[in-house]
Amino acid sequence: MKNITILGSTGSIGVSALKIVSSNPEKYKIIGLSVGTNKDLLLHQIETFRPAAVAVMEESLATELKTRLPAGNAPEVFFGVEGFVRLATLESVDTVVSAMTGAAGLIPTYEAIKAGKDIALANKETMVMAGPLIMAEAKKRSVSILPIDSEHSAILQSLKGHMKEDLKRVILTASGGPFRDLSLDEMREVTAAQALRHPNWSMGPKITIDSATMMNKGLEVIEAKWLFDLEMDQIDILIHPQSILHSMVEYKDGSIIGQMGVPDMTVPIAYALSYPRHMSNDLTPLDLEKVGTLSFEKPDMNRFRCLDLALKAATKGGSMPAVLNGANEIAVDAFLKGTIGFLEIPDLIEKTMDAHTHSPAETIEAVMEADRWARETARGWLNS
Ligand code: MG
Repeated sequence: MKNITILGSTGSIGVSALKIVSSNPEKYKIIGLSVGTNKDLLLHQIETFRPAAVAVMEESLATELKTRLPAGNAPEVFFGVEGFVRLATLESVDTVVSAMTGAAGLIPTYEAIKAGKDIALANKETMVMAGPLIMAEAKKRSVSILPIDSEHSAILQSLKGHMKEDLKRVILTASGGPFRDLSLDEMREVTAAQALRHPNWSMGPKITIDSATMMNKGLEVIEAKWLFDLEMDQIDILIHPQSILHSMVEYKDGSIIGQMGVPDMTVPIAYALSYPRHMSNDLTPLDLEKVGTLSFEKPDMNRFRCLDLALKAATKGGSMPAVLNGANEIAVDAFLKGTIGFLEIPDLIEKTMDAHTHSPAETIEAVMEADRWARETARGWLNS
């Protein structure tokens, strides 16, 4: 029996993870659930899963929850970053599913690792901002970090049974998002509603916009670099519009091993929870005859400047990936609110990166400071 805390239990990953838990009650037990603001769904989840504790962002919401929970066996209620940390580090927890959106996931995830909890990581921003610190801490505590990201799950599976020293490179695949074939002029006019319509994957709004700009692939490159201890020139990207081959590893002799499957996050979530076992599920199996063709092409860095900026930030290292990430979160939020256009997302990120004085960012505090600086700087430009 594995005891689980889910950070971000009402988001798309959290809800899917809970479905896996309910279908396998003999394998998994929910200890903690955390949400930002979605109290109705949280109340429903509390009733179904009976966690020992829950955490929410605001104190006022925590107070309201306490009054609405039945007396007797109600869960403990925590709030704020400190509350998320308490939830993630509870004594009885074995595995933390880190599925909050954005930089907010960093501190609770880092503290969970320090407390010796295994991590099922959907919050790639954690790895983007503080990859070297996270991996060093995980190694020190013999904690495993298993990716809940279809590409990284595919790489993990393609590495098994092979020698690391035989690896030549990894090839991350990308759907290219809804605007794969648009010209720059057409991209200038797209709306948030259009960007939120991803052709293959059903995900939360932040990551869906990141997929449309291809920033998501840039963040995934950084995530892969740290997770699998790779050099930047060992990571390539191919657009693969069908989203069937989820990523590949190439070995010295030219052999390429990849993982295929239907594009559904249930698969990488379940694999991260049951690793190294494969669990059965009720998804419609992949029908390659129906898919017919798998195609691949190089991404266009001129149209997908966010991807180019992410690669630059990764090469620069230190505080720059945190700055890229912080500026991106502000830019995506502004685009979703209609304040800026689609092509102004990379403009704002690039301006922020150009204005940044690079630092080595060797502590979590330095990473958080780079994040804070980037947000404040990007917001300043938005308001002027
Ligand atoms: Mg992915």
